[in-house]
Amino acid sequence: TAPDSGSRVEASAALFERARAVTPGGVNSPVRAFSAVGGTPRFIERAEGAWLHDADGNAYVDLVCSWGPMLLGHSHPEVTAAVQAAVSRGTSYGTPTRAEVELVEEIVGRTPAERVRLVSSGTEATMSAIRLARGFTGRDLVVKFAGCYHGHVDALLAAAGSGVATHAVPGSPGVPEAVAAATLVLPYNDRAAVEAAFAEHGDRIACVITEAAPGNMGVVPPAYVDGQGFNAFLSATARAHGALFVSDEVMTGFRASRQGQWGLDGAQEGWVPDLMTFGKVMGGGFPAAAFGGRADVMALLSPDGPVYQAGTLSGNPVACAAGLTTLRLATDDVYSHLDRTATTLADAASEALAAAGVPHLVQRNGTMFSLFFTDEGVTEVVDFAGAQAQAQHRFRAFFHAMLDQGVYLPPSAFEAWFVSAAHDERAVEHVLAALPAAARAAAAA
Ligand code: PMP
Repeated sequence: TAPDSGSRVEASAALFERARAVTPGGVNSPVRAFSAVGGTPRFIERAEGAWLHDADGNAYVDLVCSWGPMLLGHSHPEVTAAVQAAVSRGTSYGTPTRAEVELVEEIVGRTPAERVRLVSSGTEATMSAIRLARGFTGRDLVVKFAGCYHGHVDALLAAAGSGVATHAVPGSPGVPEAVAAATLVLPYNDRAAVEAAFAEHGDRIACVITEAAPGNMGVVPPAYVDGQGFNAFLSATARAHGALFVSDEVMTGFRASRQGQWGLDGAQEGWVPDLMTFGKVMGGGFPAAAFGGRADVMALLSPDGPVYQAGTLSGNPVACAAGLTTLRLATDDVYSHLDRTATTLADAASEALAAAGVPHLVQRNGTMFSLFFTDEGVTEVVDFAGAQAQAQHRFRAFFHAMLDQGVYLPPSAFEAWFVSAAHDERAVEHVLAALPAAARAAAAA
């Protein structure tokens, strides 16, 4: 079937045409353009709880949740009230505020980060963490993993996941060769490759950065060998060579569990990252992100130290109000609900695909999961090469069949599905009802 077969899209199509006349690709972030799945991107006008409402009057159960931030669902009444109250006190002062202190205290209370600085996007957070790691170690090289996305930082675009994977861009033009040359890209979960890189370049490596549990090539959990997780291995290896371990929790932070991915591995195994990055959930749907970690490393930051970093809107009071209220409401009950909902949806999707005879794999990490349209007999995706070996045409058919039935999935085979506290029985039932027909569409593709 052709994209857009089942739903009304006239208003979205007209807006998309206007958008393309004034904005590259018609979107302000590439994955929104539906390039990987075809058809008309839906222009959303309003969102409540688990539901999105578009310009044509279609309603969708939202399994993107703004790509992670909306942990409590859309338009949560207490978050909305906190934001309205903050707005009524003025929207930006360019001074320190109580809200910033309280948001950072909440982050420090949940994570092993001893000091935290607020920024406005995950990209800024990873960019600043890399600069700080280089400043602290006096070294230039950065180790990253293929399929991990850390924002559109020059040094981190090489073999990145998310939109870079979807669009099959091998890095990006515009990144100076010298910058790309300072980035070593290794296969995820490949300990021998990490050991070899450190054996050869150990005294020049400033840091290893990784998604704490990759979600930008689909969900690929860190692998365990003899009871030791991949993150513990990276932390120990970096330390042995005087390099820093940077754990990017922009996606997993306050989502994979109450304490993020660290709560699922570091807290159990007794290690802590040297630096961490956060974003998405901690901004409650506003532009807020953070980086933090060891006090002695963070002490190098301006104004205490020589490594410069700043932001006009960093710690914006409205964003802090949304983030703080979101984190305070994100109780253990919320995480149990996300866990149960993820299990229900993942199991049902797998059952429907199996019934339709579609080879696939479901991978879980904490409250996050994703579906891989793998070949028959594949039992695990452990890295980017595995994630790329997917039947993307089946995903496209599955995606559009779900969309036509009012379920908004990430428009790419390389993304996690996100649920929220607002995904109640009605929303879940709506998704379950859509799965069999979508599975049949995938089978027929
Ligand atoms: N790191 C990770 C792990 C991410 O998932 C993302 C965004 N998807 C980023 C960094 C970049 O964050 P932002 O889009 O806010 O710049």
